[in-house]
Amino acid sequence: MSELILKNVSKVYPTGKTAIADFCLQSSGKEFIVIVGPSGCGKTTLLRLIAGLENATKGDIIMDGVKVNKLKPKDRSVTIVFQNYALFPYMTAYDNMAFELKIKGVDKKERDKKVMEAAEILGLKSELKYRPRSLSGGQRQRVALGRAMVVSPKFFLLDEPLSNLDAKLRAEMRSQIIDLYEKLDATFVYVTHDQVEAMTMGTRIAVICDGVMQQIGTPSEIYDHPKNKFVASFIGSPEMNFLYGVLLKEAGGVKLTVCGEKIMLPQEMFDKVDESYLEGKKGIIVGIRPEDVIAFGEGENFHSVQAVVKGADVLGRDLIVYTKVRGASVTIKTTVPVKRGDKLNIAFDKSRMHFFSAVTGMNIMNYDEA
Ligand code: ATP
Repeated sequence: MSELILKNVSKVYPTGKTAIADFCLQSSGKEFIVIVGPSGCGKTTLLRLIAGLENATKGDIIMDGVKVNKLKPKDRSVTIVFQNYALFPYMTAYDNMAFELKIKGVDKKERDKKVMEAAEILGLKSELKYRPRSLSGGQRQRVALGRAMVVSPKFFLLDEPLSNLDAKLRAEMRSQIIDLYEKLDATFVYVTHDQVEAMTMGTRIAVICDGVMQQIGTPSEIYDHPKNKFVASFIGSPEMNFLYGVLLKEAGGVKLTVCGEKIMLPQEMFDKVDESYLEGKKGIIVGIRPEDVIAFGEGENFHSVQAVVKGADVLGRDLIVYTKVRGASVTIKTTVPVKRGDKLNIAFDKSRMHFFSAVTGMNIMNYDEA
């Protein structure tokens, strides 16, 4: 078992800074939880609290049914892998990996077995005799992973472990860490600010802002049903488009006024949106992802408008096109070749719109009723 519960955990540093506020998380075992959020939002503090490197100011941390608030790191079944590898420079890869087992008094034969097993899984067998300075960044990070693996922790904590690696190596290491997760019987808590890592690695993603959990859910829940504008804007690249608008309930459906356009939405919207926003009085923010605005899109689900191309980033076959629709910025993803100044017919996929309160930023849609 590797059950982890954080109950209303807060951390206030002696400087008075609240790094984590009233944080709750429940994982019933063997999960890959990715913690994402902007710089300074409290991700590392959260890992350090779980590892026991910091004490919580308030709340409880419970591992496999045991409250561990007062337990030292060595007494928790936890290991942590850092961004900068933190290897001993004067020891070989083998000795780095065996170090903790040696301290724990594990005999030489058992140490050897565990290190060789980890080296096999991580493809490090021929590197074991080298010191870190003779290894590449990827190999060093694998040694750091191996050092964590050999102690068979129930909770594997990783703090931006791939951020020092180049893009190709990062992609390789991502799949290696997922392999590792599949082989081990442990809960992984993985901190990153790279949303590709979050979307591809996590069984669940926890999005944090200013020490406060904004939403926790599967990658598709977070992507398709963001709880608020912060989550919607933080996950997804390029960022979701946000446009001011108003909703009004009419006889045949809901009229959305946005960018000076009147868009009729089907009657199902009556049940999908908080009723108080259907009276045309409260401002809303319409969110729509660039891939849900289609160049030359046609059909019942779409509402077409004319846009002017302001610029484009060419990414192989795909283009990220920046347009203006009556003064409002709308980014789209397309394969249609365009250039600055072109007039382009773009169509909003009505079924892929999100609505947020213009005041609180909270999502005002009820996806369950969809
Ligand atoms: P990054 O992505 O930049 O690494 P983070 O999300 O991991 O950031 P933390 O390092 O947990 O954020 O820091 C959260 C907040 O707490 C920041 O405002 C930081 O300045 C503050 N902080 C972190 N450590 C301490 C400390 N030891 N004493 C006082 N404040 C701290």
